[in-house]
Amino acid sequence: MKELKYRELLKDKKRIVVKIGSSSLHHMETGELNLTKMERLVRELCELKNQGKDVVLVSSGAIAVGKKILNVSPNETPMKQACAAIGQARLMMIYERLFAEYNHVTAQVLLTKQTIVNPDSRLNAENTFKELLKLGVIPVVNENDTVAVHEVEDTFGDNDFLSSIVSVLTGADLLILLSDIDGLYTDDPRSNKDAKFIPLVESLDESYMLMGKDTTGSRIGTGGMSAKLHAATVAVNAGCDMIIANGEDVSVIHKIVEGRNHGTLFIGKRDDRFNIAGYVGMTR
Ligand code: GLU
Repeated sequence: MKELKYRELLKDKKRIVVKIGSSSLHHMETGELNLTKMERLVRELCELKNQGKDVVLVSSGAIAVGKKILNVSPNETPMKQACAAIGQARLMMIYERLFAEYNHVTAQVLLTKQTIVNPDSRLNAENTFKELLKLGVIPVVNENDTVAVHEVEDTFGDNDFLSSIVSVLTGADLLILLSDIDGLYTDDPRSNKDAKFIPLVESLDESYMLMGKDTTGSRIGTGGMSAKLHAATVAVNAGCDMIIANGEDVSVIHKIVEGRNHGTLFIGKRDDRFNIAGYVGMTR
């Protein structure tokens, strides 16, 4: 009953951040982009925009696309960064074209951990988002992988976390993380048939965090359940609702916003001590 009420409230969300990962954007067998899926994703986002909502897309895929273009599998950081530079441009070219088909304007925003830690650059990023959204533009966000070096941990680590930071910067009221799994389970459902699906998390306590940790290293773990729970702590404490849903079929986006029962819903409860810089590792 309570869940129905929460789901009903999702219809009124005004500013929605959607995150899609590299694995959801590519064909497993060939490593090529799944253009049909990208097209459907863009259509879903344009439809939310047409309903009068503000929309932000956090999309991975820069490095994967760059690797495919150059036909390399790099281990060295500079080569990975070159791949990101090449792949990000290609990715944006495709998004740009797809959004234009539906008469929407998109913009690229690339962030780094330093952007958030430094109060001046964080304010600049916030102002840019504010202005873009006021202009009715759909920002497409990624980490600036050309300058963020994963090997020295100078990064957000993953785009789940980045998307929770973007939700805070934009003052979003809903974050949708598209995953390869239906949502949060008590255990990895692929190895434990008794694992139970959790449709609603009203209060994100330690017991839920352990569900992510327990599955690290399994498929659910590499699918990033602990990363998603980490993102949830940021979103929820900033007062933003968050959903983990299966992005296999991206029509799940409009179903969620229609208040239908898909994915795990985490209820946002603003913590007055919330400090975004603290969450990215360095408090000022
Ligand atoms: N920023 C990376 C990329 O676009 C992906 C990070 C992630 O998938 O979490 O290639």
